[in-house]
Amino acid sequence: MNIPKSSFPRIVIIGGGFAGIALAKKLSKQEVQVVLLDKHNYHTFQPLLYQVSTGGLEPDSIAYPIRKVLQDFPNFYFRLAKVSEIDTEKNTIQSNIGALKFDYLVVASGSKTNYFGNKSIEDNSMEMKTIPQSLNLRSLILENFEEALLTSDLNRRNALMSFVIVGAGPTGVELAGALAEIKKGILPKDYPDLDTRLAQINLVQSGDTILKTMSPNASKKAEDFLEKLGVNVWKNVRVTSYDGTTVTTDSDLTFESETVVWAAGVKGAAIKGLDAEQFVSRGNRILVNEFNQVKGIDNIFAIGDVAQMESESVPHGHPMMAQPAIQQGKLLGDNILKLLDKKPMTPFVYKDIGSMATIGRNKAVVDLPNFKFQGVFAWFVWMFVHLFSLVGFRNRTVVFINWVYNYIRFDREARLIIRPYKKKLKS
Ligand SMILES: Cc1cc2nc3c(=O)[nH]c(=O)nc-3n(C[C@H](O)[C@H](O)[C@H](O)COP(=O)(O)OP(=O)(O)OC[C@H]3O[C@@H](n4cnc5c(N)ncnc54)[C@H](O)[C@@H]3O)c2cc1C
Repeated sequence: MNIPKSSFPRIVIIGGGFAGIALAKKLSKQEVQVVLLDKHNYHTFQPLLYQVSTGGLEPDSIAYPIRKVLQDFPNFYFRLAKVSEIDTEKNTIQSNIGALKFDYLVVASGSKTNYFGNKSIEDNSMEMKTIPQSLNLRSLILENFEEALLTSDLNRRNALMSFVIVGAGPTGVELAGALAEIKKGILPKDYPDLDTRLAQINLVQSGDTILKTMSPNASKKAEDFLEKLGVNVWKNVRVTSYDGTTVTTDSDLTFESETVVWAAGVKGAAIKGLDAEQFVSRGNRILVNEFNQVKGIDNIFAIGDVAQMESESVPHGHPMMAQPAIQQGKLLGDNILKLLDKKPMTPFVYKDIGSMATIGRNKAVVDLPNFKFQGVFAWFVWMFVHLFSLVGFRNRTVVFINWVYNYIRFDREARLIIRPYKKKLKS
């Protein structure tokens, strides 16, 4: 990898997501050598991926070059590399660009989609965890409308204009709301010769509540908002298979749809060498102690989505969200420095600053620890928080201008098929 030898201890970080970047920033200007490895050369702001999928934002406004984050830090090295294996005995990682020895290793590789072993859904549905996947979805949605215009087969036309989103967590809810707004505001203008009223947006949830990690009020209000926007919310329905056209469920309900988005599960992106049963939870997250140390290994840590820190209050670990990842990254930076100074490390305590979801224009739900609210004010709070959480001044400016423009013009101008998507060529 051509990383120079150094008298400083070498800390290797796998993943430049929320956790990895927060840690890297904490270690800047310290007497350590930091090597950050990521399979992408950019950091992705995942909470706004659904806006890329629905033409509200260009992909480059939610991505930020990792090299730029690190460019002012001495002793920092970035390599574009996919890590394939960790040797915990020899303190080495293997990747597509070679091997690297470490003194300390931090796994911050995030999560991946969990299909719970359902092959038909994995093969035929769309996922939305990366920018390329969001672009695939954007292309597919638009290609389907183009095809709907051409076909004279009514059943096929309906299937091309019908969407099924599986999983009514924040991702599913936000995507469903955005699609409903496109149906109402954009499709009739773009496709005047197509009866776009027939477009169906179905949000399917296996449990009896949507946004189940939020307050009952937020959940109820979000459902009202979705119904007002024309989304069909199906609760207590479990999707069992999808062959590319027909979605079957555990009830009599079936859907004919050419676009199924799977937002119903994630699992830790544990890496070979740390993915054996003794290291991971049922959700494939690496088990760590209160210092984010991998159980039984002093110099290897896991943070963010990939880490499961179990305690009495959180028996399944902290939520797979940006805040726990950022907070763990920051604390681990301090703790590694303490470890090097032979001082005791500080245990991680998660500070829950709340959660939120937007359903559409002027419609959002916000749960703060002491204050819960919904509607227009919540929507402004949602926008403000997301805008200021984005990495980079340019991204914030571009997103802000886009949002103002979209708000005034009722528009989403990034509805472009730049990279046509062929269903069989899923990547
Ligand atoms: C669509 C969507 C919407 C979301 N909305 C919200 C929200 O509104 N609020 C919220 O708090 N959270 C939200 N989340 C969750 C949030 O994005 C994650 O909890 C957060 O990104 C976790 O940070 P992380 O650093 O652990 O992982 P990530 O940010 O996923 O970063 C992991 C990094 O590791 C890299 N990587 C993975 N494997 C390897 C490998 N083998 N080799 C090299 N590099 C590797 C990846 O390329 C990536 O850059 C959302 C997630 C998604 C997918």
